[in-house]
Amino acid sequence: MLQLTDVTKTYPTPQGALHVLDGVDLHLGAGESLALMGESGSGKSTLLHLAAGLDLPDRGDIHLDGERLSTLGEPRRAALRRQQLGLVFQQFHLVPSLSVADNLSLQARLAEREDNHWTQHLLARLGLAGLNDRYPEQLSGGQQQRLAIGRALAAKPRLLLADEPTGNLDETAADEVLDLLASLVDESGCALLMVTHSARVAAPMDRCLRLQHGRLAEPGE
Ligand code: ATP
Ligand code: MG
Repeated sequence: MLQLTDVTKTYPTPQGALHVLDGVDLHLGAGESLALMGESGSGKSTLLHLAAGLDLPDRGDIHLDGERLSTLGEPRRAALRRQQLGLVFQQFHLVPSLSVADNLSLQARLAEREDNHWTQHLLARLGLAGLNDRYPEQLSGGQQQRLAIGRALAAKPRLLLADEPTGNLDETAADEVLDLLASLVDESGCALLMVTHSARVAAPMDRCLRLQHGRLAEPGE
């Protein structure tokens, strides 16, 4: 599903090159779930951006569903993103001018994979069924986060990339959102690569890896 091979990423800074990823290898199979941990600044978001084809590595290869993402131009990468990926970021990136229902279905429409039954199911499962016509600014933080998760799953992606999807919520709200995310991922059968700081969140996932000094390692190594 997703394969990173010897991936290196450096950012230029006024102090010189910042080596964020230094030979990262990662394989994620279809339907598999992986928790990505690591200190702030260790490069977790950078890795997710590369996996989504939002940025390109300096060296190494990234394959998504058999396609060599790291050599494709942005239009083709964008098409792959639409067809294969669901993305949830720390900030929700909801479209303020679209209603709850339209925010949710936009992604499915872009991927030409509209499924009204699945959309309605998602809205109900996310506890947003009565809020179809509201706009994002009229939702609580937890509701916005759930909508962002629903939107990411609306086109039935094969891989969900989630970057600390509960970073802005208190612990109770975060737990609820994560339980929901886990069961929706199960229902849709997609693979999951999720950044989290919480060992409790990582525990039920198939695997957990820690990003440290630019490389991936088993936790505790
Ligand atoms: P957090 O847990 O705080 O979200 P992270 O593990 O996601 O951290 P990244 O956002 O991947 O960390 O950043 C890794 C390092 O690269 C940090 O030192 C950051 O300052 C730096 N960095 C990220 N993006 C850029 C950029 N576009 N230009 C220069 N440096 C960057
Ligand atoms: Mg980050």
